[in-house]
Formats: sequence, structure tokens, C-alpha cells
Amino acid sequence: MRGYARPTPTSDNGRVNASPSSQQWFDRALVVSPGGVNSPVRAFRAVGGTPRFMVGGEGAWLTDADGERYLDLIGSWGPMLLGHAHPEVVAAVQAAAGHGTSFGTPSPPEVELAEEIVARTPVDQVRLVSSGTEATMSALRLARGFTGRDMVVKFAGCYHGHVDALLAQAGSGVVTLGLPETPGVPAHVTADTVVLPYNDRAAVEAAFAELGPRIACVITEAAAGNMGVVPPEPGFNQFLSETCRSHGALLISDEVMTGFRVTSSGHWGLDGAREGWSPDLMTFGKVMGGGFPAAAFGGRGDVMAQLAPNGPVYQAGTLSGNPVATTAGLTTLRLADEDVYDRVDSWSGSAQSLVTEALSQAGVPHVLQTAGSMFSVFWGVTEPVTDFAGAQAQETWRFAPFFHAMLDAGVHLPPSAYECWFVSAAHDDEALSRMAAALPEAARAAAAAPEPTRT
Ligand code: PLP
Repeated sequence: MRGYARPTPTSDNGRVNASPSSQQWFDRALVVSPGGVNSPVRAFRAVGGTPRFMVGGEGAWLTDADGERYLDLIGSWGPMLLGHAHPEVVAAVQAAAGHGTSFGTPSPPEVELAEEIVARTPVDQVRLVSSGTEATMSALRLARGFTGRDMVVKFAGCYHGHVDALLAQAGSGVVTLGLPETPGVPAHVTADTVVLPYNDRAAVEAAFAELGPRIACVITEAAAGNMGVVPPEPGFNQFLSETCRSHGALLISDEVMTGFRVTSSGHWGLDGAREGWSPDLMTFGKVMGGGFPAAAFGGRGDVMAQLAPNGPVYQAGTLSGNPVATTAGLTTLRLADEDVYDRVDSWSGSAQSLVTEALSQAGVPHVLQTAGSMFSVFWGVTEPVTDFAGAQAQETWRFAPFFHAMLDAGVHLPPSAYECWFVSAAHDDEALSRMAAALPEAARAAAAAPEPTRT
């Protein structure tokens, strides 16, 4: 045991408090975890202050260690489509856990979850993994193994998990913390990564004209949600699919965030299904795990056939297809019917109107962008944001005071201007009233935010 003093949980009046506060948990966490967190954006670095340590979630609401109740617009960064602690998901998970938590053999729920994913999307087969990062990492390896090529094209501002080769100009926490690049990623690992501006067809054409025979794949978020929400321009994903096909490369559509969230078949339901094209590989996570660590990659049968044990491309996982995680995901997907998507869309639309109205009344220039029910605000801009450069041109300094005013009024937004706001089917009229009450003051705080002086 290390010799640090574990802080005694005390309340303001000095009495021993059986339930430590968020601040006390954070103090303890800072001793044993870098930054006090297990994923960087949770540390509140972009907004300042103390992260709230949650002790409970129910429907659209979270309760922190101090007993404060918040309307949740993080949704665990996407998974909680049905809201927290949905009774049927909880019951299914409890039953599954009662039968054993991991076998290291195949088990029925993983087959049923794979069937559900195959039924909803254009993929022929899926391999289950435990995180979105693992899904994109494995899809990348498979694309390289299948094509026998090394180069990968990604778009600036898109985040595909913390895969070494894909961290170049990534969104999400990488941009929130302003990290230009990540030490620990050897230059040779990213030497085969080409980073292009999002939504830029000419740049894609130029890259293929120069490097075509060496490009294994293009990986893109089906709709970018990690530089704020930046949807693909109409036809852009189809253009990527066709360009890849004509050069013998594969298109990997990363639907870790959008999958089973923006429609029952993900963002593909908004473009590919209507336009008549399919990605060669897709990655999934978040909603399909029902709040548990489950993710997947899948695609064309001939590509998936290259995966071990059928083919030579190796990929494996001790907890892949875990029976409790797959039960949570399966139950969530089975409950995610059209009514759920209608309710999520409708609440999201109402919330978007409230945000726009409050910011406009306070005189804050902004653009609110959507991909299905996912949305985010770009601060201080007046034109639609179509790429990472546009996202970075926003006045992020307006976000911190806005965020804290919302938090003080009981609405927990993602603690970064570059993250998307997530809604669940449990967000109801009470949740909308909480938003409506919180927004005017927060909008005034954003309007009054002083511009930082440049040094
Ligand atoms: N891909 C996308 C589009 C994501 O948004 C994320 C995470 O936010 C990932 C991949 C990585 O997923 P995970 O955090 O489960 O590793």
C-alpha cells in the first residue's frame, strides 16, 4: 500500500460526512488517476471547475455525489438512447449477470446482437469488440490486410478513438485539450496517414490521383460529431464510396457515434439507404452496448472473410461478445423502435429551438448544426461550419460561462465546445422546462464573456 493519506470525507461544518462530495471524490481521484479521470474530457479542463461525480442516473436525469440533480445532455457520450437505468435493460442485465458474467466461449446473446446489427445495417457480418477504438483499429487492419495496401485517408476533426494511426488532427478530447499531436505515436506509424479537410471532394480526388494505388481505405465519421456536429454535405459519403470503389480502396464508415442513434440503421439510414450505396466496412459502438463496453466492426462478406479464423487477418478479445454487455445492447436495440427515434427527434428539435431563441435574444452570434437528433452550437460564427478549420474558428471562450450557468441551473452539457449534445427517449416535458428555465441566463453569460487577450 502506498503511503498517501486518503482524505477524510468531511462536510463544510467539519462533521464527518458519510457521502463524500464531488470535490472530495475529485481530490481522491487526483491522487490515484492522472487528471483525476479515466477519459480526458471528463476533467473539465476546457470549462474549469470540479467535475461532478455521478452516483445515479434515471431516465433523462443524473444525480451527483452532493445530491444535486441534473438534466443530462451527455448521455454517456452517446450510448444512453433510452435514458438511464431503463427498467427492461436493467432487468435483462441482472438476469444475464445471474447466469455468469463471462465465459470465454461463444454464447447466445452475442449471436442475437450480431443478427440485430446485420438486420439493421448493410453489413453482411460483424465481429464484436469492447470499445469503439478497438472497432476502428480492427477495421483499419482488416482494410489493409484485404487490400494489401498501407495508406489510410482520414479527415481533420474526425475522431475515431485513440488509435495511433488515426490520432492525427483528431477531434474530441484531442482538440478540446488543444493537443497538436500525441507523444508516444512514432512518426512512422502516422507516415501512412493522409489527413484531408472534411467535405472537400477536390482534396480527396487529388489524394487518389497522387496516391491511389497505395491507399487501403478512407475512414470517415458518417456525420462528424467530434468537432461539434458537422454533417457531410449532400452526396459526400456517396462520393467517398464511389471514389474508393473506383480505386480499389475500401470505405470505412465510422458509426460509433451515429449508429443506431440518428435512425434505427444509423446515419446510413439517412444517406446510403436512400441513395443506394453501402460502405465496405462500418464501425459501431455506444448505443449497441446499452451502456456497457461493447462495440463492433462489420462489412462486406468477402472482406470479413479475411478475418481469423477464416482468413489471415488476426483480431481477438478476451471479453469480446461478453454476455452481460451483449444482453444490454441487444435489449436496447430491441427497444429502440420508430417511436423511440420519433421521440428523440422531437425533443431534440424542441431543445434546438430553445437554444437558438435564447442565444439570439441575448445577441450571441452562433450556428446550431445537426445530424439527426445530435446537435451542437458553434459560437460567434454566422456561416455553416463544414470542416475542422471552420470549427476551430469559433469563439470557444463563450462556451465555459454558458456551460457553468447551465450547470448551476441543473443542466449538464458535455464540458467542451467541440462535443455534441445527446438526447434520450426519456427526455420529456419536465426536461424541456428545465432547459427553458436555464437557457436565458446562460445565453446572457455567453454574451457577456470577455474575449481572452492574445499574447
Ligand atoms: N469513433 C467515433 C466516431 C467516436 O465518437 C468514438 C468515441 O467517441 C470512437 C470512435 C471511439 O470509441 P470508444 O471511446 O468507445 O473507444
